[in-house]
Amino acid sequence: MRLKAEKRIPFPLRGIYGGVPTQLFERGKTLSDYGINAVWLRSGDVTAQSITLLKSQGARVFAEFNTLHEAAYLKEHPDAAPVGVDGRVCPPPDGWQGVCPTHPGYRAARMEAFRAVLAGHDIDGIWLDYHHSHASWEQAVPNLPDTCFCARCITHFARENKTKLPDATIPELARLLLNRHKKAWIAWRCGVFTDWVRSFRAVVDETRPRALLGTFHCPWNDLDFDGALREKLAIDLKAQAKYIDVFSPMPYHARFGQATDPAWISEKTAWLGKHLGIRGKAAERQKIWPIVQLSDWGEPVPPAQVKTVLDHGTRPPATGALVFAWSSLHGQWDKVEELGAFYRSVM
Ligand SMILES: [Zn+2]
Repeated sequence: MRLKAEKRIPFPLRGIYGGVPTQLFERGKTLSDYGINAVWLRSGDVTAQSITLLKSQGARVFAEFNTLHEAAYLKEHPDAAPVGVDGRVCPPPDGWQGVCPTHPGYRAARMEAFRAVLAGHDIDGIWLDYHHSHASWEQAVPNLPDTCFCARCITHFARENKTKLPDATIPELARLLLNRHKKAWIAWRCGVFTDWVRSFRAVVDETRPRALLGTFHCPWNDLDFDGALREKLAIDLKAQAKYIDVFSPMPYHARFGQATDPAWISEKTAWLGKHLGIRGKAAERQKIWPIVQLSDWGEPVPPAQVKTVLDHGTRPPATGALVFAWSSLHGQWDKVEELGAFYRSVM
């Protein structure tokens, strides 16, 4: 006898991240055969053709936008490289290159690129990515150097915070900022990153007001790694919430040392809902749509685990979910079938 599947409430948004799923179409299948109704593309991959194709199958199309990780900019603008506590350019932790958040040229260039994606394409929304300080956190043990102590950042801090700093070397000032002025320094850094979000929101409102503004963000809670979400990454979710429509935490369980504990995924979204006061009700303006890991990264995600991962990814307060990442998943068709079976069961 076959056990009756547990009846689930229809789950509104069932997405994939990382490219147009042409491999699915080549097999003569449609998005709805797999229960997919939303696709996230990297900004550079968004074309009129891909939008038309995906929308013709009833999907919403969202773009991902790289904010503070456009490493190529540093080639011609070395003064935008983040500076460490020793007063020198801080090498990219594990190769993840961030950018100084107060470099005016960089900020203007990213805002212009952001505007161009929205103005040029009939997308349903745009998601910020890498919107945090120079760090490598997408792993079980993060690498989180303290930055940015460039003269520009320190001057901005002192002026905006009305703090008189002594005439001292950058290493001496960095020590002061991380000790005596730590609370104010952390708050100021978070404020800088939040102000970027305020500007992104203004661009959305001016350019494509019906588009959603989302953010792919670190899934840690406020206590994980000694409060590193604010203190190291400069992510103040409550402050950013003023401007964000959809929060997409990235609880990549296999990558983050939780390979055998997919319940960790729903713990993270439950915390986020509580933290932001989002309950997962249809009438709420703000939503939580986590991006969950099905690709093998760090540790493999076996096909037998796909259903459990998606079960935890779609629990309240989440009202949408998407999977990481089509670009490698299409090579593991057994997992794609599991994904399709789950999504169809909650259509
Ligand atoms: Zn700086």
